[in-house]
Amino acid sequence: MSTEASLKAFNEAQNLIPGGVNSPVRAFKSVGGVPIFITEGKGAYLKDVDGNEYVDYVQSWGPLLFGHRDETIENAVIDAVKHGLSFGAPTLAETELAKLVTEFFSSIDKVRFVSSGTEAVMSAIRLARGFTGRDDIVKFTGCYHGHSDALLVEAGSGAATFGNPSSPGVPADFTKHTLLAEYNNIESVKKCFEDSNDIACVIIEPIAGNMGLVPADKEFLHELREICDANDTLLIFDEVMSGFRASINGAESITGVTPDLVTLGKVIGGGMPVGAFGGRREIMEQLSPEGPVYQAGTLSGNPVAMAAGYAALTKLKQNARVMDVLNKRAQRVVEGMQEAAKEQGIVMQIDTRGSMFGFFFNENPVKNFSDAAKSDAQLFARFHAGMLEEGYYFACSLYETGFISTAITDEMIEATIKASAKVLKAIKNG
Ligand code: PLP
Repeated sequence: MSTEASLKAFNEAQNLIPGGVNSPVRAFKSVGGVPIFITEGKGAYLKDVDGNEYVDYVQSWGPLLFGHRDETIENAVIDAVKHGLSFGAPTLAETELAKLVTEFFSSIDKVRFVSSGTEAVMSAIRLARGFTGRDDIVKFTGCYHGHSDALLVEAGSGAATFGNPSSPGVPADFTKHTLLAEYNNIESVKKCFEDSNDIACVIIEPIAGNMGLVPADKEFLHELREICDANDTLLIFDEVMSGFRASINGAESITGVTPDLVTLGKVIGGGMPVGAFGGRREIMEQLSPEGPVYQAGTLSGNPVAMAAGYAALTKLKQNARVMDVLNKRAQRVVEGMQEAAKEQGIVMQIDTRGSMFGFFFNENPVKNFSDAAKSDAQLFARFHAGMLEEGYYFACSLYETGFISTAITDEMIEATIKASAKVLKAIKNG
């Protein structure tokens, strides 16, 4: 497989764009090699500038539930474009998409659209703070909620639950209100509530997809809900990734735990830039212009993005059973790869939720970020490179999740498993 043209494109891009990419994970830094420059996608496939084709298990990091260039979504976008790209004024499309979102999520009475997941989360947190009149927030190590200042935190020293900035450019003053707990560890949450009586909200990916796929235990989420209730603290489910991916009706339908606010993104934009946050009426009504908590956006509710999202969610509504089909395929691909790994004496941990799948080269089950970090990163990098060579495009970091689209067939899954057996054997022998 030649990657000459990708290499040339990458070198040129690096001169003009920091790291050659507009979002760091795309740079293949954790797996090495040249990031593949894409020319087009069609159905299950991506094509690169060298003319190579890959079965795509990244799906633009989640949004493309129906694969690339789904006809319904494409037509909806073309039609919307013909009416105008942006008006900065209300359109019917926003209300139509809001109707669908509130139909799917029983915890959402009202929803506001923004342009990214980052924006959705930072706005939801502001709303939680405004609603409760409190400043502190709790997040979990290994959960990613976008790149806003207060959420770029890492564990502080010693037993402190208050986080430190995890990036230069984030003032310590901006993260001093963020407490860190360990995923699936309720004692660590209790410790946060001992350290602060000013907690506005706890934010969690109920099905974490940013430390690999690590779903929260049901019991843990139920206890989290109880602690939040006991302290008049809001519970925010960040479903930017898992929304309409793990389940059609949100993590609340899988776990039985109802959040106060939910953040969404990815699938609800059908591939266009969209985020959203929504929740209980009394909370959402605190938002400007109805209430005092300010939040705004020039391109929020953009008509083209709304049309894409509406087409995607309508298609999902019409094919409600599709998630079961996708889950069967997700299960098959990871079970097949696990079996192939076992034949080579390699232990692989696997899991799926709906159309999301995850695998770790790890001897032990993964329940939190420190478990995930014990995975064999080198082996993952070699596996990633080998699968790319075979024509399978997997996320270029062991801390990411895989996605099945409806365009990925059973035959493609079987071929992927075969390729994984070949790659793992070559790794073992070489
Ligand atoms: N929240 C979660 C759970 C995410 O997975 C992401 C992005 O992957 C975000 C928030 C941020 O979304 P965006 O990249 O659209 O800003």
